Amino acid sequence: MIKPRINILALGGTIATRPDASGAMQMGLGADDLVAAVPELAALADITAETVSKVGSHSLGFDQIHALAVRIAGLDTDGVIVTQGTDTLEETAFLLDLLLVRDIPVIVTAAMRNPALTSPDGPGNLLAAVRVACDPWIRAHARVLGVMAVMLDEVYAAADVVKAHPTRLNAFAAPQSGPLAALVEDRIVPLSRPVREPITLAQARLGDASHGKAQPVALLWLGLDEPGFLVQALLDGRDHLGYRGVVLGAMGGGHVPERMAPLATRLAEVLPVVMSARAGAGGPLLRQTYGGPSSEIALRKAGLIWGGRLQPLKARVLLETCLRAGLGRAAIAEVFDAFG
Ligand code: ASP
Repeated sequence: MIKPRINILALGGTIATRPDASGAMQMGLGADDLVAAVPELAALADITAETVSKVGSHSLGFDQIHALAVRIAGLDTDGVIVTQGTDTLEETAFLLDLLLVRDIPVIVTAAMRNPALTSPDGPGNLLAAVRVACDPWIRAHARVLGVMAVMLDEVYAAADVVKAHPTRLNAFAAPQSGPLAALVEDRIVPLSRPVREPITLAQARLGDASHGKAQPVALLWLGLDEPGFLVQALLDGRDHLGYRGVVLGAMGGGHVPERMAPLATRLAEVLPVVMSARAGAGGPLLRQTYGGPSSEIALRKAGLIWGGRLQPLKARVLLETCLRAGLGRAAIAEVFDAFG
């Protein structure tokens, strides 16, 4: 039997750490080390391992992920596994999903427990990711599944996966949609298919965003009694403090504190401002239920962009990508609108 060719691209993260003399975990392992720790991989696939970087994912940047997408787009292979840290996996996987149109599985995986601990999850996650990449159902549906995350024997769509806990082993989930598939014994059990239309529309509008310049997007999480001083600073600061867009982690179905409504409205006149649900793991916002100056009807009329079902971190990734691609306010609103 011809084995699938799988490329493993290692970025760093807990999965690639090792202890220093003091016992603190430091980046250190490369892709070859990760592969060597899982001898079973050789029976499943022809593996090519490449160390792209050795950084914690909290220090990755949009530019690096754009470069990674270009690299993945150019690979002659049957599947790609990206290993990285868990801190930003929900963002990088979604960005790759927006940037890549490929008919092969592209999977991001990581580890919550470092290699020095008893029962680290990195080797198991890497083996699971390769199993998923080699699976006939996954390969047959690769384009519609889009970029996937594999953690703890579950497969998630990039648009849905969230890091739901900072330290627990089972930190990842897709609360809105559930997993796409589960690994049981050595089988992949399909469970669902993602709704792909919003991503396809975004990709059509984005074109080739990889040549664009970084576009800083501020993320402001709105809490009880938020006075709006940061929004005021964005309005008053020179060049809006360098930001090119803003995501507001909105209350409830799309609300801001009443005293902030005039500020949010003014901000939306000068920068694209996306409203995204702070509750849960995102979820579609209301559009036409509540009246009053701080509710969805008024804010939508005032020009705030509705983030649909995307949670704030993913909305920020999409807004950065839209701005990088040079989209104007109307096109950005259309892209977000497709997400509900
Ligand atoms: N700080 C690490 C990172 O994201 C955490 C991890 O990998 O789980 O790179």
